[in-house]
Amino acid sequence: MTVVRSTPRIAAVIGSPVVHSLSPVIHQAAFDAAGVAWTYTAFEIAPGQAEAALRSMRVLRLAGLSVTMPHKSDVARLVDRLDPAARALDSVNTVSWDGDDLVGSSTDGAGFVASLVDAGVDVGDARVAVIGAGGAARSVIDALSRVGVRSISVLNRTPDRAEQAATLARTASVGIESDISRADIVVNATSVGMGVEVASSGPDDLPCDPALLRAGQVVADLVYHPLETAWMSAATAVGARTVDGLGMLVHQAALQQHAWIGHRPDTSAMRAAAVAELAARQNTAR
Ligand code: NAP
Repeated sequence: MTVVRSTPRIAAVIGSPVVHSLSPVIHQAAFDAAGVAWTYTAFEIAPGQAEAALRSMRVLRLAGLSVTMPHKSDVARLVDRLDPAARALDSVNTVSWDGDDLVGSSTDGAGFVASLVDAGVDVGDARVAVIGAGGAARSVIDALSRVGVRSISVLNRTPDRAEQAATLARTASVGIESDISRADIVVNATSVGMGVEVASSGPDDLPCDPALLRAGQVVADLVYHPLETAWMSAATAVGARTVDGLGMLVHQAALQQHAWIGHRPDTSAMRAAAVAELAARQNTAR
């Protein structure tokens, strides 16, 4: 089949469940802001069906895929090539074309670093404490090591996972609580605080004791629902600077668009669309 290049192109997210994904709103806002005739949609792909989804991408010449749970490591084995981050993490969140080859990359960690830079944070020589050791934490640790931060302390509820995550970077090691106080940047990469409004939160909704935080630190939360988490609110109260998780979500999507189209999309338009969508969902839930 010949692909007609001038036709509008289609990109999509695959995952399960995918119904609550903000990716369609964020990506479509960027396409529209750039005047690009691309459409972005969401495909619910059941666990174990990633191979069929990738086959469909090849057959239909879908222009790009975002990949979310539970398919990230399956897709890493199904593409023709991996970028260095995807290879280190054994996890793919982006599939793009290079000629007839499918390339898998991982833009989450680089998106996180870009969100810090966008917020004016000096990442270069920072001592970083990462709380959490799941997929998001691992991508953040990998990306922080690639930009050459001074040190990365990894703290996690399950110590074995912290040890595993710390092996991702030469400058990373398993941390203790005092590393949180010493750090220039503290990252919540756990799911603690997700879906909990500040007003109804309790101590169990915080990834660490806020007494460990101090004025002058940058406190970043990967959780973006709510946009201001109870932990960010506690960090603000001690004089720390906060960076929300929506920045990471927007910037990892911007990097996906760069992989697909080669353009640098309007991240302000992407963020505005996501904020509007989150507000609309909150109103519907009331
Ligand atoms: P994951 O792989 O399931 O890892 C979850 C992490 O949270 C683990 O370290 C887990 O510790 C920890 N955790 C969960 N419940 C806990 C509790 N009650 N107390 C202490 N630690 C707890 O999930 P993930 O994919 O890494 O995602 C983590 C968070 O990041 C989620 O909220 C997700 O929405 C967010 N995220 C945001 C973005 C973004 O773009 N902003 C991107 C990806 C993920 P154990 O190892 O001990 O279980």
